[in-house]
Amino acid sequence: MEKVVSLCKRRGFIFPGSEIYGGLANSWDYGPLGVELKNSIKSLWWKKFVQSRDDMVGLSAGILMNPKVWEASGHLKEFSDPLVECKKCHTRFRINEAWSEEVWWSLATNLEESVKFQDKEKFVQDTLKECPNCGVKDQFTMPRQFNLMFKTFIGSAEGKSSEAYFRPETAQGIFVNFKNVLNTSRKKLPFGVAQIGKAFRNEITPGNFIFRTREFEQMEIEYFVHEKDWKKTFEMWLHEMKDWIKELGIDLKKVHEYEHPEKDLSHYSKRTVDFEYDFPFGRKELYGLAYRTDFDLRNHEKASGENLKYRDPETNEEFWPHVIEPSLGVDRTVLAVLLGAYDDSDPDRVVLKLKPELAPYKAAVFPLLANKPELTKMAREIYGDLRRDFSIAWDDRGNIGKRYFSQDEIGTPFCITVDFDSLEKKDVTVRDRDTAKQERVEIKNLREYLGKGVC
Ligand code: ATP
Repeated sequence: MEKVVSLCKRRGFIFPGSEIYGGLANSWDYGPLGVELKNSIKSLWWKKFVQSRDDMVGLSAGILMNPKVWEASGHLKEFSDPLVECKKCHTRFRINEAWSEEVWWSLATNLEESVKFQDKEKFVQDTLKECPNCGVKDQFTMPRQFNLMFKTFIGSAEGKSSEAYFRPETAQGIFVNFKNVLNTSRKKLPFGVAQIGKAFRNEITPGNFIFRTREFEQMEIEYFVHEKDWKKTFEMWLHEMKDWIKELGIDLKKVHEYEHPEKDLSHYSKRTVDFEYDFPFGRKELYGLAYRTDFDLRNHEKASGENLKYRDPETNEEFWPHVIEPSLGVDRTVLAVLLGAYDDSDPDRVVLKLKPELAPYKAAVFPLLANKPELTKMAREIYGDLRRDFSIAWDDRGNIGKRYFSQDEIGTPFCITVDFDSLEKKDVTVRDRDTAKQERVEIKNLREYLGKGVC
């Protein structure tokens, strides 16, 4: 993990947020290479799940929405973590992070059962013992629910009537626009709506680099079906998500499906499967797949008074479609992709074995020697020409070996070198990142060569 974090900083993938002001805890900015990687992931996802499917359409809704959305969706009431507060240092802890899951479950179960109130407080102290922050013993409040949504105010007046929330998930934008999408796209069930965008959660225990942050990006699909079809659709999306993970080049041996037991299900879900990844800091959620029933459309209809039902064109039956939701974090994808690609098994070089489709640069172009104008001129022409179709790096510093290693470290699949033979024969050396093998390719065929290798 440390090696990947350091590479990200050194080479311009990911920087600490607001660094010149001493940073802002757990915030990260994507640098020139990171934004290319992130954009490639998002466009691959959009191509796979929206563009190439007849049963999908896209959407881009606002981050700020009418607060009634969050009332109807249950987020105002339910979207919270149980926290205890140390009475001495006032640090709040998410119980299942600060202590083991087992402790948390025994606590939660015992609290719910008919333990008398005065015994409950004692039970909390006895179970939790000492504060992980200041070490004081037996000084905890009872667990309380803290809402994870970021609150803000719209307009100049700060008050109850101007309160708004940054969306904690992109999903609700889709439910709120269900009727608009249905009326304009004329899709028939089953169909899905996809959205990529930022989400915000006031996480109590952010950390592990970009794994858990307060501002992050999601790629979500709400897939609408007839209730009777939910089980087979759920299976279809399990398969699609696995296929996506494989397409990213993530090692499937490191990915595990975790079926949520009933007692752990979110307030809206009847079945949830997480795709967990073996991160260096433990096996943790990469993506989630949830069956949200008709919870959201039903509640938004009740709260807004708008008819959000679907009318079956054949039977004329009117009903709320049920929803299967594949929910994917962009940043966790970036992290899993980087961790899987990092390879320092060769003592001489670090190679970022990214799938060529994801590499920030598809190729780098060099003149063999920087001080020979005729080589530079030809290399510049090739660089300029290929850039019209691919993202291409230029490098004429140091020796050729150093340039190769520098490109290996950022995952560039091909290095193209213009040498003295190139001037006569109109061909170049193309070196492959993974095998380090070189071959001569005619300049006029370079575009096709790269097209085959990286698209
Ligand atoms: P966790 O249990 O790790 O908090 P979650 O179950 O709350 O995650 P979901 O609400 O299912 O997460 O969100 C869907 C996806 O969004 C997650 O699978 C993850 O990829 C991503 N995600 C959620 N919270 C964060 C976060 N704080 N930082 C980065 N990505 C996140």
